[in-house]
Amino acid sequence: MIKAKKSLGQNFLIDKNILEKIVNISNIENKIVLEIGPGTGNLTSCILKKNPKKLIVIEKDDELATKLEKKFNNQITIINDDVLKADETNLFDDKIIVFGNLPYNVSTEILSKWIINLKNNFWFECLILMFQKEVADRIIAKFNTSKYGRLSIICNWKLNIKKICDIKPGAFFPKPKIDSSLLVFYPKKNFIKIKDPNNLEKITRIFFNQRRKMLKKPFNQLFNGDHRILDKLKIDLTMRPQNLDLDTYYKLTCEYENLRS
Ligand code: SAM
Repeated sequence: MIKAKKSLGQNFLIDKNILEKIVNISNIENKIVLEIGPGTGNLTSCILKKNPKKLIVIEKDDELATKLEKKFNNQITIINDDVLKADETNLFDDKIIVFGNLPYNVSTEILSKWIINLKNNFWFECLILMFQKEVADRIIAKFNTSKYGRLSIICNWKLNIKKICDIKPGAFFPKPKIDSSLLVFYPKKNFIKIKDPNNLEKITRIFFNQRRKMLKKPFNQLFNGDHRILDKLKIDLTMRPQNLDLDTYYKLTCEYENLRS
């Protein structure tokens, strides 16, 4: 019997209907699949039944990695490591499908790392990921709403995001205290070209540092009060950070890069 480790965000998905729903989101037959944090292997078993070409899993917990080795033998490739240290971009030749019932304590860190590190070629066909509902709500939030912020702006830059469903605590063991949501991320064909995604990270950090305050201070800090940019992007400095839509943040980042080139 496995004792779930809170420090590794271990809440294992046990609801068969939800497991089935997750593996049916995309056709994975004959595709390369990566699963992050397979845990006790419940989702892993469902993925294998769909006959992927290859299934690679990344699990940080040594004890679980050993158990998975015994359970699945040579049906899967196990990487017993921290996903935050792995370089997924170099693991595969084909585009892959990624599943993850992510450990909630590092879910946004994992996603931000993938997005910030994305080169021009996407290494995945889609990401099928579970988050705590509160985080998923922030990822898909629209501008002019209270949940809109850095996470929404960074996640929506190169990806189209679809919410599949919310999932109640009873679907997991042990039961988490919060609801979860399942999201799917697809690469966008067209997106605003930013030279260095770390600049998007910086701009959103500075703008949302004081989300209730007017835009004047962060704008002046970054752009030295350049009124041409305000006119071009139709920004009024009495607005608040949540009033600027996604594209305005991407364009602002391009302007910031132009000023420095
Ligand atoms: N996928 C399984 C399921 O649905 O039943 C388990 C999900 S559980 C929420 C998160 C899993 O991620 C755990 O197995 C945990 O050990 C693993 N994990 C936590 N942090 C990790 C990290 N940084 N890298 C890789 N795996 C991690």
